[in-house]
Amino acid sequence: MSQIQCYSVKAYSASNATTPLAPAAITRREPTELDVQIEILYCGVCHSDIHFARNEWGFTRYPAVPGHEIVGRITRIGAKVTKFKVGDLAGVGCMVGGDLSCPHCRAGNEQYSPTMIGTYGSTEPFIGGPTFGGYSENIVVNEHFALRVPTNLSPAAVAPLLCAGITTYSPLRHWKVGPGQKVGVVGLGGLGHMGVKFARAFGAHVVVFTTSPSKKADALRLGAHEVIVSTDPEQMKAHAGTFHFILDCVSAQHDINTYLGMLAVDGNLTQVGAPEKPLPVSVFSLIMGRRSFSGSMIGGIRETQEMLDFCGEHGIASDIEMIRMDQINEAYARMLKSDVKYRFVIDMASLKAE
Ligand code: NAP
Ligand code: ZN
Repeated sequence: MSQIQCYSVKAYSASNATTPLAPAAITRREPTELDVQIEILYCGVCHSDIHFARNEWGFTRYPAVPGHEIVGRITRIGAKVTKFKVGDLAGVGCMVGGDLSCPHCRAGNEQYSPTMIGTYGSTEPFIGGPTFGGYSENIVVNEHFALRVPTNLSPAAVAPLLCAGITTYSPLRHWKVGPGQKVGVVGLGGLGHMGVKFARAFGAHVVVFTTSPSKKADALRLGAHEVIVSTDPEQMKAHAGTFHFILDCVSAQHDINTYLGMLAVDGNLTQVGAPEKPLPVSVFSLIMGRRSFSGSMIGGIRETQEMLDFCGEHGIASDIEMIRMDQINEAYARMLKSDVKYRFVIDMASLKAE
């Protein structure tokens, strides 16, 4: 550990669960032989960043630098790097390390390896202390965890694919969503709007459940065939028991039994939204119809690359609202009011300029 050199980087961090994010200096390792250094151009703002900054999941270590939807340019490479050269565009999502040798890693599921190192909130393997995310000028990661990003799409609109994209693509692929299926997406935020785009691209009949009637026209534009305002019991009743698959992207407490009741016999509801508190499940919601309730976390590196390539081929990217770094606390407040269309992305040049 001791021979590793470090350098200082400008970032935005939370110093505890209640104060706003503010400018700070963090330390990163100098690239080792398998590392790439990426100058961050854009970083998406995921609701996980809020849960983490506010310690809603209970494992945050401070100072906390969120951000795991990173697109940037390679500025330095280690001696043994083969995947990238200086000047390439690259992406980094929610993972920056892992042993790459356990059965999960070998199966392409690095996200489920007990050795997985998260982009933020894990332990930095070379210099200790917490890993720091993308609300910063640059990042250093093992080349395996850097992705090639499509060059035919706006790099800012590609950034959210690194988390919101793969988190919705992976379960839709796993559960083989496709033509002839009725698929629900609950919550039209960052994840939800990508879920709609992918489910539509895979050929399903797509229905959005939203608590925001004002998002109805957008949901249809994004690819939904139908929109259900979930606060209207009549609209909900009309679709009960009819869905093959539902992807729940909600960040807050909600009645999961209502959505399980929307599933057809043998239907599956996959939870990707990660609210702070447990979601109580009535067993009757499951046994009446042999339904299943499952979860999914991001996706492996191979599948993330597949998703990015798919997006390049099909012209799929996120609908974004660009912000400056110093607008991050305002962006969090708006996300908590479900007021985001449909992903905030930070123009990281604004941090350099500070
Ligand atoms: P987001 O952009 O804030 O969207 C969340 C959406 O949920 C809102 O836009 C809203 O949609 C709906 N919603 C919010 N509060 C609600 C409530 N009280 N009742 C019902 N619906 C409500 O968040 P995001 O970035 O998409 O993230 C969503 C969740 O996924 C977060 O918990 C995040 O931590 C988690 N996540 C998980 C993974 C994973 O690997 N599993 C990866 C990334 C993120 P409407 O206005 O349409 O109702
Ligand atoms: Zn995320």
